[in-house]
Amino acid sequence: MTKGLLIDYTWCTGCHACETACKRELGLPREQFGIKLAEYIWPMDEGKDFAHTDNWQYTYFPMPLDACDLCEERTAKGKLPSCVHHCQANCLFYGEIEDLMERFLEHPRQSLFHL
Ligand code: SF4
Ligand code: SF4
Repeated sequence: MTKGLLIDYTWCTGCHACETACKRELGLPREQFGIKLAEYIWPMDEGKDFAHTDNWQYTYFPMPLDACDLCEERTAKGKLPSCVHHCQANCLFYGEIEDLMERFLEHPRQSLFHL
């Protein structure tokens, strides 16, 4: 059965805990990531550009990258992937793709990742 990660970024706070936990798990150097947070920030006031507003919209989107092996060693021992375990906002889920797909279809602003 294919396993995967569901990323429900609706409530992602941009805390970077998943990045840090993943780096530790994989033993990656500073410049490499197994999951990387994309941060999109744009002005909310119509007609105003970045230089003329204090009203911002923030969206954070954690993206698993090539180094991600879905925490092969941890999950083989029955543990959750490190990023899932450390996400305080409950944005990351690990499991069978079919099960994750059901959750994926429940609401927008999610993505699915598998190897
Ligand atoms: S599943 Fe493991 S290897 Fe993949 S992003 Fe999460 S912590 Fe990193
Ligand atoms: S997915 Fe979770 S751990 Fe990662 S930045 Fe978002 S809230 Fe933090």
